Amino acid sequence: MAKKTIEDVEVAGKIVLMRVDFNVPLDGQCKVTDDQRIRMALPSIESVLKRGGRLILMSHLGRPTIGEDNARFSLKPVAVRLGELLAMEVAFATDTVGDDAGAKAGCLADGGVMMLENLRFNPGEKKGDAEFARTLAEMADVYCNNAFGTCHRADASMVAVPRAMGNKPKVVGFLVAKEIKYLTDAIADPRRPFVAILGGAKVSDKIPVISNLLRICDKVLIGGAMAYPFSLATGGKVGDSLVEPDKVGLAKELLEAGGDKLVLPVDTHCGDAKTGDCNKQVVEAGKIPDGWQGLDIGPRTAKLYAEVAGNANTIVWNGPMGVFEIPPFDEGTKAVAQAIADGRGISIIGGGDSAAAIGQLGFAERVSHVSTGGGASLAMLEGRTFEAVELLDDK
Ligand code: ADP
Ligand code: MG
Repeated sequence: MAKKTIEDVEVAGKIVLMRVDFNVPLDGQCKVTDDQRIRMALPSIESVLKRGGRLILMSHLGRPTIGEDNARFSLKPVAVRLGELLAMEVAFATDTVGDDAGAKAGCLADGGVMMLENLRFNPGEKKGDAEFARTLAEMADVYCNNAFGTCHRADASMVAVPRAMGNKPKVVGFLVAKEIKYLTDAIADPRRPFVAILGGAKVSDKIPVISNLLRICDKVLIGGAMAYPFSLATGGKVGDSLVEPDKVGLAKELLEAGGDKLVLPVDTHCGDAKTGDCNKQVVEAGKIPDGWQGLDIGPRTAKLYAEVAGNANTIVWNGPMGVFEIPPFDEGTKAVAQAIADGRGISIIGGGDSAAAIGQLGFAERVSHVSTGGGASLAMLEGRTFEAVELLDDK
């Protein structure tokens, strides 16, 4: 059922506690190098501020280790960047549930905004701690989940906090509403042919998704390092390619279950090192010699995948086809991205690197939806529901 959004609640004079995903890249000087995730949250933030709400933002950043020097994981630079984007002062609390947060929350004016320090500086966040959550929830009149990238997790700010809100309103932000709408619709009632393209390097994360995709899609195309466990499963050779041998058993099962729905590369672009100026050759898939590694799908595969993608009415793409950071091993990814951008279908791109590839190629405006959450969008494609969303108020 659709969830109430931030627009559906009265916020004037009320404190809104909004979980955002401001897990942005910072450079050595702790400056935000890509503010996409902050900008994506602006419509929900502005909706609260314009209506005279008092907004407290909370997020995690990176993976700090409790007890170590975590200065480089501070959200302070993010608060500064948000202030620039909103052209207003963003107060920053140096803690999450401590004195500074309490004092600054008390000083918030209608239409004012503050940001808490990194949630993960408190061990309670990853543990889903109820006491930590209760203290956060007590600060607020309204809870809003606008952190799609974290929706598949059960961290305190995602699950225990909305639970601790009791009968107070708990809603989704526009970003989460939009992500869920696209991903749910794609799965529930797809326009066919429905094609999924999976690649990248995080093979263990993504292989489990394939079985659900095989159930709901017409074709599942495999590229990137994802292809190599399948090569091994069919008795092929992968040379020195990046491969997780313990996935071969699963790959065998998927091959059996998938039949001709599951499409594997027919050729591979290899190098004798992972550099742009290495020696290169194109070989038949599964025939990568020792001393060589697969770094991209080959040109025949790229053509084939582009054709299938071009004819799809719904496409889900997660994971680049090759090491797109190092030309010429970006060719397969480029060919697929071009076909998706030129295609007539609904196209949904998930995964940080796939989104980056689409952005670099200048196609971001030519696809239907670029998801902000790699893991979360995969979890949805796996057919999982999120407790962090389920427990929010229905429309
Ligand atoms: P996403 O972020 O889109 O979910 P992943 O993080 O799973 O994607 O994978 C992206 C990475 O996969 C890229 O850095 C790319 O270089 C790498 N990659 C793709 N194909 C190969 C390959 N054949 N061998 C090694 N790395 C690969
Ligand atoms: Mg990635």
